[in-house]
Amino acid sequence: MEKPTTLQQAIRYFSDDQVCIDTIAELRWPNGPVCPKCGHGEHYYLATQKRWKCKNCAKQFSVKVGTIFEDSPISLDKWLAALWMLVNCKNGISSYEVGRDLGLTQKSAWFVLHRLRLALQTGSVAKMGGKGKEIEVDESFIGGAARFMHADRKKRMITQRGVKDKTAVMGILERGGEVRAMMIPSRRKHHLQAQIRAHVKAKSAIYSDALMSYQGLEHQDFSHQVIDHAEKYVDGQVHTNGMENFWSLLKRQLKGTYISVEPFHLFRYLDEQVYRYNNRELKNDGERFQKALSQIAGKRLTFAEVTGKVGAAANC
Ligand SMILES: [Zn+2]
Repeated sequence: MEKPTTLQQAIRYFSDDQVCIDTIAELRWPNGPVCPKCGHGEHYYLATQKRWKCKNCAKQFSVKVGTIFEDSPISLDKWLAALWMLVNCKNGISSYEVGRDLGLTQKSAWFVLHRLRLALQTGSVAKMGGKGKEIEVDESFIGGAARFMHADRKKRMITQRGVKDKTAVMGILERGGEVRAMMIPSRRKHHLQAQIRAHVKAKSAIYSDALMSYQGLEHQDFSHQVIDHAEKYVDGQVHTNGMENFWSLLKRQLKGTYISVEPFHLFRYLDEQVYRYNNRELKNDGERFQKALSQIAGKRLTFAEVTGKVGAAANC
């Protein structure tokens, strides 16, 4: 059967458990399964149990071991359908929708989506830009839509000092390349410039708005030009329109789909939007899905880790 390129084809294709296992195994182990305990490459396949048994240490292992799927009682067809929806729905997808579509409780679906977001995280450490490359940096605030909040939550989040749950985020975009986005403790100079130094190569041409915190970049082996949004938004090459576009996609995702993102979880939604943005030019939905699926190994997330405390509110 040909690899799926639409959601409908994907649901049909992955309805067979063995196809799910083979697909994941191929992406994880291009040269054949490797024992997670001893690293040995020879094994028997126990077809009835759908597990491998290592010829060296006799350990049995499934395709889920050492991935975000490990220890999950949810079947692989549901995991893969959820991943398909997550990477291909432009504005994201809520746990309510996924729960309804796949026959899971909202809470299970919420956990599934958060584990999948972990797979989307690239954690790339290679710096962007360089000589002759153009980089846009910008910052934004997320959250604080008090009028949509539940009364209890409103009481918690809003004090006399104003809205507490506005979270500062920063974005760095290489024109013609990728975007990265991260939460930052504040918009102060040392926070913003530390991110720039961590992610951007020397000699890059950096464009930013007129925020004071960006001053001095030109003395750190970058070229730096400023567009003062009080005057205009574009001056030839000098603008941050790429980042503005990313923020508007992110805010559409957060406002439209995820009605109540806790600041604690915000970075996962950043990872999700960054993944879709950076892979928006792949040929089709199937490629976006395959690439995400290839990132599932070596990652685990327990319910306690994802909520920060067991039994915390999980409602987005
Ligand atoms: Zn082994």
